[in-house]
Amino acid sequence: MDFIQPASWADALAIKADLPSAVPIAGGTDLMVELNFGTRRPEALLDLTRLTELADWEVSDGLVRLGAGLSYARVIAELGGLLPGLAMAARTVGSPQIRNRGTVGGNLGTASPAGDSHPPLLAGGAAIEAASVRGTRRISAAEFYTGVKANALAPDELISAIYLPLPSGPEQFSKIGTRNAMVIAVAAFSLALHPDRKEVTTGIGSAAPTPRRALAAEEFLTAALDEAGLWGSRAALPDAVCTEFARLVRAAAAPIDDVRGTAAYRLHSLAVLARRTLGWAWTEFQHDAEGTGG
Ligand SMILES: Cc1cc2nc3c(=O)[nH]c(=O)nc-3n(C[C@H](O)[C@H](O)[C@H](O)COP(=O)(O)OP(=O)(O)OC[C@H]3O[C@@H](n4cnc5c(N)ncnc54)[C@H](O)[C@@H]3O)c2cc1C
Repeated sequence: MDFIQPASWADALAIKADLPSAVPIAGGTDLMVELNFGTRRPEALLDLTRLTELADWEVSDGLVRLGAGLSYARVIAELGGLLPGLAMAARTVGSPQIRNRGTVGGNLGTASPAGDSHPPLLAGGAAIEAASVRGTRRISAAEFYTGVKANALAPDELISAIYLPLPSGPEQFSKIGTRNAMVIAVAAFSLALHPDRKEVTTGIGSAAPTPRRALAAEEFLTAALDEAGLWGSRAALPDAVCTEFARLVRAAAAPIDDVRGTAAYRLHSLAVLARRTLGWAWTEFQHDAEGTGG
């Protein structure tokens, strides 16, 4: 197996164009497991870790641009205030060692239905920037996941960055697993309130062949909040609204039975996560008004 270390991003793209079978390696926390277990034996590895520009982030025009090589540890340390949903998810990933090495770009490369960054990327309205010698394009998170551990990248493309709009309201993430740490999600859910456009968006993890949004639940809640004037009043959420939202989130899932949990448990837990995250986010929204006098 060849180990190729490009010295620049342009070199990396040129190599990927010449040798599309070369497999990029970032933190290696997914890939090295596959190599060690012999489930994957690529012709060549394309090492992205020397490309320091991939590990940067910046804010411009209301968008946070995360380099694909940004580690979870840095998301937690540097972006907790700007991107709370993604930072919450990052805090639940693996162990300190995994969070130091593992990257958001690697999570997208693997595109596991159980990857923890996917629900907040979906709820946050992320776009994934794919680059090749042909140029760059942005793929919405909702269109990026194309199947179980499959994504929309072309063979000559690499993920260069992830774009997330700065949130205008509270975000939440919650995950259920078989224990509290070092655990792959049995089910996960993310929710974002957007008071600026009076909308709610969601992301479901580990409960369908791909991460996905709960669109009917989003539409229902967005309409219910609007009709009751709740964006303005910030009054308590009616229990019937929370219950129906949780039911619709559950209905959006299509889970399987596997070693980590049954489909029935995943459906039940998703409804619980949906209700809880909505309650937390709404309480934060109410407290935000107290803090600003709004
Ligand atoms: C002990 C352990 C615990 C874990 N716990 C969790 C957890 O709690 N939650 C969770 O979501 N994941 C978990 N993981 C999985 C893993 O850590 C994450 O998926 C992580 O985000 C992978 O990032 P990486 O940089 O290590 O990717 P790598 O292993 O380097 O790469 C992963 C895949 O992405 C591709 N790739 C990497 N960078 C790019 C790029 N720029 N462009 C295109 N393709 C690219 C690679 O070719 C490969 O196919 C765990 C793994 C281990 C070993």
